[in-house]
Amino acid sequence: MTESATAHDLEDSVLKTPVEKLENQDAIQVITDDQSYNESEIVPFVNNINDKDYHVISIFGSQSSGKSTLLNNLFGTKFQTMNEQISRGQTTKGIWMSNRIMPENNKNLLIMDVEGSDGIEKSEDKDFERKACLFALSSSEILMVNVWENQIGLYQGNNMELLKIVFEVNLQLFQDSESSKKVLLLFVIRDYIGNTPLEAHKTTLCNELDKMWEGIKKPESLQDAKFTDFFDLEFRGFPHFVFQNDKFLEACSNLRTEFDSEKVFNHDKYKFNTKLPLDGWEMYTNNCWKVISSSEQLDLPTQQILVAKFKTKEIANKLFDEYKVSSKTLLLDFGKNYESIYNLLNQALLAFKESGGRYMESVYSEEKLNLIKEIQTLNFEHLSKSIDEKIHENIISKSIQNSLSKKEIIKATPSFVDRSFNVVTAFEKEYESELIVYLDKELISQEHQTLLVDGFMSYVKSVLEEENKKEANKLKKKLNKELFKEIEEYLEISVSKPDEDFWADLKVFYKKSLNKTLKKYTQKDGSLKFPLNFTDEETQSYIKQLSLDNIKTLNKSIKGISSVQKLVLILEEQYKNIFLTDQENQAPRMFEMISLPDMENLHHSCKARCENWLQQFSKGSDLSTWNDDVYDIKSEDLRSQVTAEYSDYSASDSEDEDDGQSTTIINDLKIKRVLQEFTKKVNIISLQTKRIIVQSSMN
Ligand code: GDP
Ligand code: MG
Repeated sequence: MTESATAHDLEDSVLKTPVEKLENQDAIQVITDDQSYNESEIVPFVNNINDKDYHVISIFGSQSSGKSTLLNNLFGTKFQTMNEQISRGQTTKGIWMSNRIMPENNKNLLIMDVEGSDGIEKSEDKDFERKACLFALSSSEILMVNVWENQIGLYQGNNMELLKIVFEVNLQLFQDSESSKKVLLLFVIRDYIGNTPLEAHKTTLCNELDKMWEGIKKPESLQDAKFTDFFDLEFRGFPHFVFQNDKFLEACSNLRTEFDSEKVFNHDKYKFNTKLPLDGWEMYTNNCWKVISSSEQLDLPTQQILVAKFKTKEIANKLFDEYKVSSKTLLLDFGKNYESIYNLLNQALLAFKESGGRYMESVYSEEKLNLIKEIQTLNFEHLSKSIDEKIHENIISKSIQNSLSKKEIIKATPSFVDRSFNVVTAFEKEYESELIVYLDKELISQEHQTLLVDGFMSYVKSVLEEENKKEANKLKKKLNKELFKEIEEYLEISVSKPDEDFWADLKVFYKKSLNKTLKKYTQKDGSLKFPLNFTDEETQSYIKQLSLDNIKTLNKSIKGISSVQKLVLILEEQYKNIFLTDQENQAPRMFEMISLPDMENLHHSCKARCENWLQQFSKGSDLSTWNDDVYDIKSEDLRSQVTAEYSDYSASDSEDEDDGQSTTIINDLKIKRVLQEFTKKVNIISLQTKRIIVQSSMN
């Protein structure tokens, strides 16, 4: 640049300071000389900014093209110009930032100036230049592109090549088809003489940009993207800073007005949706720089989303902690404090909207849902606990039992199943209407409501299930009691005579009796139907149990007559019945008419019949088959259980080893004992009879 020496000379003497110099806001370095993100300075810098509304702009252009000079004159910043660098012997590179409070609205204008080392075309410097430009592009709303008027149209000259690379990488790294953020490229045409209308330059530059855009390698998803999808364009001319200083300053003043009124920022109608709040900006640019400096293939939306997620989560966590504290006592009585709890929730959501709502809409909404869910879960825990306490088990159980077993209710609704059903519906109604008082979509989710109702109803049902089991047991006992009574009565009579078909007869009677008892529960179609709340499977196992219990009942009766003592009595009774009674005319035998030898014969045959009966009785019968045809169960299903039951009883009276398969109910030893006793008794009877015969023959 040939004019620079002259310009330098003139600058000090001519330069006016049209903008009040920024006193407090000296520039800080965002990216340092050694190309690292200067977190230690940026964080306090950003934290010190009071009003959090802000805009970010930056400038791009070749070295010593008057960028810093323009910014300083536009905004009163104190970026180092080349002249100062020379006078101080410094050559720095990096990105600098200053904050200017915009006078009209007190918003912050963050201005970034990119500085490279001068002149020397080292590849390292080119690399930094590119990265710096990419950083400026990704973090700014407006990128000012500094070009000389006389270089417009000379492709190489005005850094179009650099822009092309930057745009290309920008597309790869930071854009996707979803991104709605647009950057304004504000071309500041320097040393603008004014002969060529700006419109003409605009056309030339637009053509160049279009050509460049066509040549850019675009990612698959952005093949059809247009330049204008990502960029808006504006053009401003700036007369020579030194030779037309007044006009230069005037142009600065004009543009400054456009900034101050935020006119230039309104190019992008979506910007409010995508702009990060200032407290996320540091993290975002830090990440951008990481991506750029390592050139990882990440995209800008991802970075923005990550920051938004992190920040909104942070805010939501804080609000939830606050909610926990402020709702603590209220939640202890959810029902009573329902309205206050509701207000707390609304306050939390409002606060979340205020700070979290500044972030990306989709992320904000998602986090808002999370926050609501967390609060709802907390509410739910308390509500369900207080409800549990309120409708204490005892109360429910008691009222269920009442509704099931009160006499008048049983009278009105005899079927247990119907009564249970009535209880369930009554509770469901009552509970839901009770809950509805507290249940609000915001306070407790639909899911939680369902959980509450389900939990409660399943509790009611479990109580009913217990009742059902009790009822089933009662029924089984009642049924077996009736059966037992009938069998006892039958045996009482049946064993009094030594009938040879004892088991067959008993079986017939048992079946008849059982069928009679069951008839109360037999439906027209002949199937068994108990008035119980059982599933088919449960009914099956209930019937099996019932059947087993029937046989146990039967067994109990048989056991009752199987002791030595009892059998002796039975046999004696049998003997008396057939020996002393004339079976033909059912009258006492007239022994006076019988000869002694006949009587002896009669005695022996009667005794033998009784002994036969005992032999036959002792063999037992396979009881497991006795329920065949009664229930719809296979006897095999019962056999093992019945046999176990049966042999148990047999073993208890037996000194023999039992093989578990035989049906023998009295062992030989016992038979021997019974017969000994029996013989003694009947011998006495026969002796007495003999005496009667002898006496009568003597008369
Ligand atoms: P930067 O490296 O792009 O930031 O450029 P500087 O602002 O440091 O300025 C570089 C040189 O250009 C200095 O000597 C300035 O005096 C000079 N200069 C600044 N503005 C203009 C301008 O509008 N026209 C011309 N021709 N020279 C300028
Ligand atoms: Mg500079």
